[in-house]
Amino acid sequence: MAIDFYSRATAGVATLNPYRPGKPASELQRELGLTDIVSLASNENPFGPSVKALNAATEALTGMTRYPDPTGYRLKQAIAERFDLAVDQLTLGNGSNELLNILARILVEPGQGVVYSQYGFVAYEIAARVAQAKRTVVAASGFGHDLAAIAGQVDETTRLVFLANPNNPTGTSFDRSEFSAFMQRVPEQVVVVLDEAYSEYVEPEADLPDGLSLVKEYGNLVVTRTFSKAYGLAGLRVGFASANPELTDLMNRVREPFNVNCAALAAAEASLFDGQYLERVVQTCRAGKAQLLEGLSHLGVSVLPSQGNFLTLDLGQDSTGIYQSLLREGVIVRPLHPYDMPNHLRVTVGLEAENERCLQALKKVLSC
Ligand SMILES: *Cc1c(COP(=O)(O)O)cnc(C)c1O
Repeated sequence: MAIDFYSRATAGVATLNPYRPGKPASELQRELGLTDIVSLASNENPFGPSVKALNAATEALTGMTRYPDPTGYRLKQAIAERFDLAVDQLTLGNGSNELLNILARILVEPGQGVVYSQYGFVAYEIAARVAQAKRTVVAASGFGHDLAAIAGQVDETTRLVFLANPNNPTGTSFDRSEFSAFMQRVPEQVVVVLDEAYSEYVEPEADLPDGLSLVKEYGNLVVTRTFSKAYGLAGLRVGFASANPELTDLMNRVREPFNVNCAALAAAEASLFDGQYLERVVQTCRAGKAQLLEGLSHLGVSVLPSQGNFLTLDLGQDSTGIYQSLLREGVIVRPLHPYDMPNHLRVTVGLEAENERCLQALKKVLSC
C-alpha cells in the first residue's frame, strides 16, 4: 500500500499553494524555441550587477572550499556603517524572504495571529500558513494597505503584522504620518514587519517612512531589506533584517549557520558602497517608468500608480490570453491570478529597448 504523504503533512503545509515564480526565460526558450526574450516578470534589475560586486563575488569564489563566515561579520559591519545601525540589530538572510519565514517560526505558535493586507506580498501568506497561524487578511483600500483597518484587526492573539512599503504586486505605499499613527495604535508585544524590498526606488516626494531609522524608536519594529532588487543580486540570495537586539538574537539562533554564501556576502558588501551603480539603476528605472506610462496611456491601458520598479496594468478583462500572447512575442510579464487580480499584469521596468519591446508587443496583442 502506498503511503499518502499529503495526509501526513502538517495542516499548514497540506493547504499551501506553492509560490508561483515568474516564468524563466530559459523555460520559454525551451517551449517556443524563441531566443530573443525580454524578461520583465520578477522585478529584477535589468542592468548586469555592479562591476564591483561582480569582482568581489568572483574573488570570493576562490574560497568556496571553506564554509562562509557564519556571522557575516564584514557585511554586517558594512550595513551598520552604511545605514547607521548597530551590528547587534542585524540579521542576514538567504534573501529577505528567508527572514520573513524565520520571524513566523520564532513568534507564532499554531492558532496565534498573523495579520496582513489583501494584495500583500504572497510570502506573508506562505509564512503564516506554514506556521499554522490564524490568518487575518485585511481588505485593501483601493489596492493599498489600509493601515487603520489593519490596526483595528490586531487582537490579543496577534503575534505578527506584515506590511510591504511599497507593496508588491500593487506598487502602493503609505507615508510617514500614516505609519506613525499605525505604530501608536499597535500594542508593543505585537511585532510589525516592514518589508522595504523596493525602498531604493521610492520617489522622495512620497515621504515614505525610513524604516531603518525607526528601529531604535519602536522595539516591536522589524525592517527587512534585500539586495535582490535595486542592488541587482537576486541570483545570489541575500537580504537583511534590522530589529531590536533581543529579537535579532532570536533570529540569529533560528537561521541556519551558513545561510548566506561566500559570493553573496562579498558581492553585497561591495555593492553597498557602489553609489554610482545604485544611482544609475534608480535613474534608469525612473526614465523607464515614464516611458512605459506614456506608451500605456497611448494604448489606453490603465495602470496603478507605483513606487516600485514595476507597473501593474489593469486590462479590464482576464489577462490570461494577453499574457500568453505576449509570451509568443518573447515578452515575459507576470499574471496576478494568485493575488485574485485576474485582470492585472505586473510588468517590471526594464531597459529602454526592453520597455519598447514590451509596448510594441502589447500594442500588437491588444489590437488582435
Ligand atoms: C522581491 C521581494 C522580496 C524579497 O526578495 P528576496 O529576493 O528574498 O530578498 C521581499 N518582499 C517583497 C515585497 C518583494 O517583492
